[in-house]
Amino acid sequence: MKLEQTAIHEAGHVVVGYALGLACNEVALTPHGQVEEMDEYGHVTHPNSAYGYEHGSLHERQRTLRDACIACCAGLAAEHVFFKVSLGTDNENSECDFQNIIEYERYGLRIRGKRGGFSGDATWRYIDRQLPIPCT
Ligand SMILES: [Zn+2]
Repeated sequence: MKLEQTAIHEAGHVVVGYALGLACNEVALTPHGQVEEMDEYGHVTHPNSAYGYEHGSLHERQRTLRDACIACCAGLAAEHVFFKVSLGTDNENSECDFQNIIEYERYGLRIRGKRGGFSGDATWRYIDRQLPIPCT
């Protein structure tokens, strides 16, 4: 992935997270030549969405987890808008982002229509729903 595409991807996470009221601790791009060693093109660090915020209720906690899922999908969505990258959940640029959503399930994210366990078809359909429809 090119540096500009990585920057757009990471900015997508930060801008959408900010709009949803989520914090960002750091955003970074991996310098060329270090991508293989670092095993990433860039990253955003933020407070843990389940435990890094004060939640007045379980409903608020769920809202934060859902917002974090949307912010996870925003990297790929930004790539789609600027570089016409496919929004499919098989996109390897967003593999870690989708794994984070599965992690949020372990923290208690409830996915409508799903009972028990983590990941599976309902999770991928949920992730698909978080990805925006192209506005062309
Ligand atoms: Zn990402």
